[in-house]
Amino acid sequence: MQKMRASDRKNISLLRKEVIIYMFIGIAGFLIILLGFILKPPQTYYKLKDVALGTYVNIVIGSNKINPERIAKAILDELKRLTVKFDPRNPKSIIHKINEANGDWVSVDEETFTLIKASIRFAQITDGAFDPTLGKLIELWGFDVMKPHLPTDDEIKETLKHSGYKNVLFDDKNMRVKLLNGIKLDLGGIAKGYALEKARQIAKSFDPDVTGFVEAGGDIRIIGPKFGREPWVVAIKDPRKEEPTDFIYLLDGAVATSGDYERFFEMNGRRYHHILDPKTGYPARGTWSATVIAEDAVTADALATAAFVLGKDWRFVVLEFPKLRGHVMLVLEGGTIKKSDTFKLFEREE
Ligand code: ADP
Ligand code: MG
Repeated sequence: MQKMRASDRKNISLLRKEVIIYMFIGIAGFLIILLGFILKPPQTYYKLKDVALGTYVNIVIGSNKINPERIAKAILDELKRLTVKFDPRNPKSIIHKINEANGDWVSVDEETFTLIKASIRFAQITDGAFDPTLGKLIELWGFDVMKPHLPTDDEIKETLKHSGYKNVLFDDKNMRVKLLNGIKLDLGGIAKGYALEKARQIAKSFDPDVTGFVEAGGDIRIIGPKFGREPWVVAIKDPRKEEPTDFIYLLDGAVATSGDYERFFEMNGRRYHHILDPKTGYPARGTWSATVIAEDAVTADALATAAFVLGKDWRFVVLEFPKLRGHVMLVLEGGTIKKSDTFKLFEREE
């Protein structure tokens, strides 16, 4: 057997030293990670289900600083406050007051002024596909009281004259609103989005690091990533089947879906639903559902309603909606699916 040279022996002892150092680093790293988990347990979520905004709401909140139950309850209170405030049928609502003012100027609070202005802006941007002045038509169809019926062509034509977003006047200086031509406001296509946006703001005011989401009738506002790092997986309802048609992954932002399956009745083999085409006064045809992902819930809600109405006018949608950072998926009549390129980015986990 050959004898080891002194330099070889030295190398081996150096190697041993290195192995020991690496092992030490490895064990220390493992202990640090373990300690991290012990000291900061994975967040658990407080869940609150209730009814508000004319639909089911689902509040899911996680916070390491504040009792999440307190945050969820504050959110629910806010959703209930807004349900009353923007419901045109409720005599306590500001929308009711404006609608019943017989064309006079009405002084409103800042929140109302801002929301009505935003709704008119969405009408302008969507070339009137979104129109918050369809109050009279919605009443005529009976969708406001959940007792829909089929009006005559003449009734629709006549009522259509008392709609149109250009009939809303603003007095910026005195924060007043005035309706012309006997129109009535109905913010049903945007108020839910606004309420979800407020819900997030309230949660953040309790704890800036709060996570979770708020859902109202299928529209969702993300409050923060799951456990602070993972996307929430959102199922998009298939307008004609029970199982979802798609899944999207959201770390932040909002998603809204407008569909012909939410509130409708059928007569002579035709489906009449609650999203009206402001140009005809009839339920918008050609679309089964429209889903929009956006950075905030107001944009998602308003654009989903607009995309539903625009439906077949896909070119307008893909040209205009990216300007508002709206990512769209449509299920057209018959089941054909259209997606904007940017929508596809949300279909996989990053
Ligand atoms: P949902 O409330 O079922 O989620 P939407 O967000 O699309 O659906 O809102 C539909 C509501 O918006 C209707 O119930 C009505 O109050 C109102 N609305 C109907 N048609 C329009 C329209 N073209 N533009 C704006 N609002 C509309
Ligand atoms: Mg909407």
